[in-house]
Amino acid sequence: EHIEQQHMLEASQRQLLGMMQAAEQRSVTDALTGLFNRRAFDLRLAEHLLRAEEQRTPLSMLLIDVDHFKAYNDAYGHQAGDSALQAVGQLLLQSCRDNDACFRYGGEEFAILLPGADLTAAHLVAERCRAAVANHAWSRRPITLSVGLATHRAGMDAYTLTEGADRALYAAKGAGRNRIAAEPGPEAPANPECRPKQKTRRSGFFVAT
Ligand code: GH3
Ligand code: MG
Ligand code: MG
Repeated sequence: EHIEQQHMLEASQRQLLGMMQAAEQRSVTDALTGLFNRRAFDLRLAEHLLRAEEQRTPLSMLLIDVDHFKAYNDAYGHQAGDSALQAVGQLLLQSCRDNDACFRYGGEEFAILLPGADLTAAHLVAERCRAAVANHAWSRRPITLSVGLATHRAGMDAYTLTEGADRALYAAKGAGRNRIAAEPGPEAPANPECRPKQKTRRSGFFVAT
């Protein structure tokens, strides 16, 4: 009887452990797309930044936004919009070839973190993502993405790296959408007074289709 009680205890412990693991998984997963969520992005980015700073290895970030998605929702409804976002998520997963790298950043925005990738390597991934979505046989209407790329420089924190990717994304939108823009970022100035003005920084954009 003692053995039987022992077995029952072990079984409920296993069940509890399984439930905890499932809850932990849910806390980093986006329910709609199955990709990692924003919370996971923040955690991962902090880890990657620490490693990039300590080991002086490259780190790049892609911020990806679906083009004219409000119009898509307006034309076909929110359910169809949800399906499209799921499909975009899958295409991004296939394109970046790393299940740990893709995140739903929020709404119709996605992010990809590329530890070890410099500007050139990250640009290849960005182009693969852009092309995969642009060339997909969408049943209703073509869907395209704009991509902002930023590469880590010594001294950059999560805020400045994300800000760079976001500015690049904004440039890609402005340049006509369905394209990639990259911001290598300014050399980290020792003195904030030496930061180049916004205008000078913007002229550093590299926009390509
Ligand atoms: P732009 O090319 O400038 O990005 O234009 P846009 O229309 O994509 O941008 P805007 O920010 O005006 O609209 C984003 C749209 O994305 C509006 C919102 O309804 C839709 N959206 C955000 N999250 C979801 C979602 O989870 N499901 C669906 N179906 N739509 C979503
Ligand atoms: Mg958006
Ligand atoms: Mg959009």
